[in-house]
Amino acid sequence: MTCLSSVQPIPPSKDLHYDHHGPSNGQLGLSTERPTSFHNPWPSYRFATLNDAWLAYQRGAAVARPQREPKCDACGEWTRVASRSASVAPFRDTEPDNELAMPGGLFYDPDDDDNDDTEVQAWDDGEDDGPDGLSFLTRRVTHDTEQPTGYIRPEMREMQTDDDADDWREPPVCVRPPRWLCGEGEDRESNRGECGLPKPALTWIGHASVLVQIPFADGSGMAGVLFDPIFSQRCSPTQYLGPARSLDPPCSVVELPPIHLVIISHDHYDHLDYNSIMELWNLHIDTVKFIVPLGLGKWFLDSGIPRSHVTELDWWCEALVQFPTSQSGMSTPVPVTSYPPTREPEINPSSRLALKVACCPAQHRSGRGVFDQMATLWASWAVGVVPSDIKNPLAPGMKDWHSFKVYFGGDTGYRYATAPDSDETSICPAFEQIGDAYGPFSLALLPLSTGSSLPFLRKTLNISLDQYTLTSSQHCSPADSLKIHSAVKARRTVGMHWGTFCDSAEARATRVDFGRARRDAAVGTDWDNPGMKGVFIALDIGQTVDVEP
Ligand SMILES: [Zn+2]
Ligand SMILES: [Zn+2]
Repeated sequence: MTCLSSVQPIPPSKDLHYDHHGPSNGQLGLSTERPTSFHNPWPSYRFATLNDAWLAYQRGAAVARPQREPKCDACGEWTRVASRSASVAPFRDTEPDNELAMPGGLFYDPDDDDNDDTEVQAWDDGEDDGPDGLSFLTRRVTHDTEQPTGYIRPEMREMQTDDDADDWREPPVCVRPPRWLCGEGEDRESNRGECGLPKPALTWIGHASVLVQIPFADGSGMAGVLFDPIFSQRCSPTQYLGPARSLDPPCSVVELPPIHLVIISHDHYDHLDYNSIMELWNLHIDTVKFIVPLGLGKWFLDSGIPRSHVTELDWWCEALVQFPTSQSGMSTPVPVTSYPPTREPEINPSSRLALKVACCPAQHRSGRGVFDQMATLWASWAVGVVPSDIKNPLAPGMKDWHSFKVYFGGDTGYRYATAPDSDETSICPAFEQIGDAYGPFSLALLPLSTGSSLPFLRKTLNISLDQYTLTSSQHCSPADSLKIHSAVKARRTVGMHWGTFCDSAEARATRVDFGRARRDAAVGTDWDNPGMKGVFIALDIGQTVDVEP
């Protein structure tokens, strides 16, 4: 069903700080100029020193020896990613009798003669056609024939006494078919809350791509909010070279349910992928709108997307997104060039869903080439369902809202890790501020690892430098993510930005590191029963979980 939403920026309050703005190209006062560059305004953002590089080297190649990856049971070859030696389970048959269950819902059939070095597996739902009448999908399974030279930190090589066995599961991350491809997406009877509506749900698409589905108030479907989509093989200027994914996306763009909002954190290639954006635009053209940080709108216009479908926001600025009951209720789209907005949005009381989308700070960088470094803004995002009993939803913040609220961390650092513990300025203050203005959150999506470029460079140049030590100002360790989880006051958190564009040794190290940090922080693991400190889990790619509002 077509559902056109309207996205209307809310004029920012006058007392906002613009200390992250660089020089601007306007003649007016600071708040009405369009900045041409940006910076991180906190002392917690620092460049790596020579000492950091030395520490990173000591923690890398000088200490750790290459780690052998497990051999594939079926063919005896070294596996590039262990899960790739597995057949994918039939959609509706989650526990086949004759197959060996592998962690994460993937199954390997030892009697299958087709386990060749390279093979194509069919997604089979037991019928001639694939799901929803699509011709069946294929997944290519590859084995590397050479022993890989993966590197993991020494403390990640062996299980420690207190480790949870699940943190050492093999493989560390798998690909599962998302719920809507398993035939459960339409009905969702088992996932209905007390009011009879489906619960909000999230699906990890891999790396930082997360789909959050929020039910319409009249039960007519779900709003699809997609963060940082990437479905391409490589996150790079070209698909011939650059960081490549080790695990396929769990679905293609055409298999996604209706997408209404695509929200981008920043312009790095692993978060803003041209092919994925173009596919989303072409296949969801009736419904999709894009919301991006300040300065990034031009990239979308240059890509051929009309300005009526793109909204730019500065840090601490907000937009109201309304889903009318019919097309006649649509408001006038607000073009990307109206910065900052001067007109208050009109609230449509008959909307079947209204969301507030707030652009929040993150401690990171931007740039897709040499000459556009820091030229566009980077951000994290808060999205909340506007409650029906709120008097003035346009007032800044969502502090007192008891509705479903999600925080997407994007790509961010939390602290400068090599500073002494006594240095309080080494911690970015933005997350406490986000928690105060928009928390508590029903759900947070937070990065667990350094991402894609650094593992690629390390592998290509064969230099084992500890990536986090070098780039802690702009990337989170699992321990940092746990700190952000509590700073923004998240009840439930899912880790992302890990395990996709790296080898399985690195994914395993992230999982083990995360498990230990979570244990140290006494944060819960039971999704259905978050304790006082909430719950923070890692999912498989494609896994869907429901969220209590
Ligand atoms: Zn980035
Ligand atoms: Zn990234």
